Amino acid sequence: MPSIDTLSPSAAHFTAIPLAERGAMRQPIVPMLGRAPRVHLWHIGCQMNDADRIRLAEQLAEIGCVPEVALEDADVAVLITCAVRQNAEQKVYGKVGALAAWKRERAGRAIALTGCMGVEHGDALLARLPHLDYVFDVREPEGFLDKLQSLHGANLDGPVTLPPSDRLTAYVPVIGGCNEMCTYCIVPFVRGREVSRSIAEIVDNVRRLVDRGVREVTLLGQNVNSYRDPASNAGLPELMAAVDSVPGLARQRFLTSHPRNAVPELFEAMRDLPTACEQLHLPVQAGNDDLLRRMRRAYTVAEYSSVVAEAVATVPRLAVSTDIITGFCGETEEEFFSTEHLMRDLRFDVVHLQAYSVRPGTAAARRPDDVPISVKKARLNRLLGLQREVAQEINQRLIGESVEVLVDGVAGDGRCYGRTRQNKVAWLPAGSGSPGDLVTGRVSAVSAWQLTAVPSSVPA
Ligand code: SAM
Ligand code: SF4
Repeated sequence: MPSIDTLSPSAAHFTAIPLAERGAMRQPIVPMLGRAPRVHLWHIGCQMNDADRIRLAEQLAEIGCVPEVALEDADVAVLITCAVRQNAEQKVYGKVGALAAWKRERAGRAIALTGCMGVEHGDALLARLPHLDYVFDVREPEGFLDKLQSLHGANLDGPVTLPPSDRLTAYVPVIGGCNEMCTYCIVPFVRGREVSRSIAEIVDNVRRLVDRGVREVTLLGQNVNSYRDPASNAGLPELMAAVDSVPGLARQRFLTSHPRNAVPELFEAMRDLPTACEQLHLPVQAGNDDLLRRMRRAYTVAEYSSVVAEAVATVPRLAVSTDIITGFCGETEEEFFSTEHLMRDLRFDVVHLQAYSVRPGTAAARRPDDVPISVKKARLNRLLGLQREVAQEINQRLIGESVEVLVDGVAGDGRCYGRTRQNKVAWLPAGSGSPGDLVTGRVSAVSAWQLTAVPSSVPA
C-alpha cells in the first residue's frame, strides 16, 4: 500500500520546508515552544485503534515528545479514526470541527489524523477539513515522527519515560490486516493484508506492559486466530503459551476470532494455560446460510454451531460472544428470523449488534442497500431485547457460583468493580480489594449485563 503521509498546505509547523524559506504567514511552532511538543491522543472505533494509540504514545515518547497530555495542554492533537461504519466517520468530522476553536486559541497548534479514515480518504480529507494539518498511516508513522523530530530536534532530549500505565488491561496487536474480504467490510481495504508480529516481539511487548503495571492483555487482530509467527509458523496457541510465561501477567484473552480458523488446539490452550481466560469472541454476523454466502463469511450456520459446541465442550465455564449485522443487503424477514433463531439456540453471553452501513468500495456496496433504516433498527432492537432476556437467564444461573474478579477500580461509594475471567462486569463490596487485585467471590445478584459478588478469598 502506498504511503499516505499527506500535508495540508497550511500546516507550516509540519512542513519540511526550512524555516527561513517559510512565508510570513507560516509561523512554525518550534521556536515559540522551546520545549518538546505535547501531544493529545484521541481514538474511536475498535480495539485495534486503542492498541494503535498505546503504540503511538510509546513511539512519540521514544523520540522525546510528551504523549497523552490533556487537550488544553497540547500542541498537537492526533485523531485515530474508524471507517467501519458511516456514523463513526461522522463523529470524526464532528471532532475535527470541534477542535477548530482549540486550534484558534493558541498559534502553532496542529491537528493530525490517522487510522482507517486516513487510509480510506487520504488527502481528500485535507480538502474537506480546512483545520486538519496532517494525515498519516498509523501502520507507518515514521514520516510523521521524522517530521516532528526534524522540526523539534533542538528541544527533544531523548526518550521520555512514560508514567506507570493507568490501565490494568491492555491490547497487544499480534496480527494486522485481514485476508477475508467479507463483502460488507472496509477493513481489508484500509488495513491491508495480514502481517503477524514475531512471538519474541510480542512477548517483549507484554513484558514491558507488565513492568508498567498491566495485569491482563488482550492479543489483538481482525482475524487473530490466523496468527503465524513469521519465522517458525507457530500459531496462536503457541503464542499464547509464550505469553503465559511472562512473570507477573495475571490474564490473557484474544480478539477477534474467525470461525474458519478456530482449531481444537486453540480451545485446548484456553483450557490448559493458567492465564488464558474462558472467553471466546466469535463473530457469526448472521444466522442464515444465504445471508452468510452474500456476506462471504466462508462457513455455514451448521459449521459455526459445531465450532461453538466444540469450544464449549473443551473449555469449562466458557463465555461466548458474537457480532451480528441486521439489515444486510436483501435480508428478508425469513432470513432475519433465522438469525433470531440462532441466537435462541446458541444463547450467547454477549451479542454486539450493528445495523448494516454501506461502505463505499466494498463488494456489498454494489448491491442495493434495500432494507430501510427503520427496518434495520427495528430488527436490531428486537435482537437486543432477546439478548437481554438470554443474558439475564445465563447470569441468573451463576448465582452461588465462584468467580475471579480482576479489580479495575473503586467507585465513589467504595465498592470495587472489575471483570471476571469470562469478561463480565462484576461488583464487590467496599474494601474487597484494590485495583490490580484478583479477588475470588460468590455471585450474589445479577442483571443482564452485570454481576454482584461477595468475596470468598483474600486478594492475590
Ligand atoms: N474481524 C472480525 C470478524 O470477523 O467479524 C470483526 C472486525 S469488524 C471491524 C467489527 C464488526 O463490525 C464486525 O464483526 C461487524 O459486525 C461490524 N461491521 C463491519 N462492517 C460493517 C458494516 N459495513 N456495517 C455494519 N457493521 C459492520
Ligand atoms: Fe472485516 Fe471479515 Fe476481515 Fe472481520 S474477517 S475484518 S468482518 S473482512
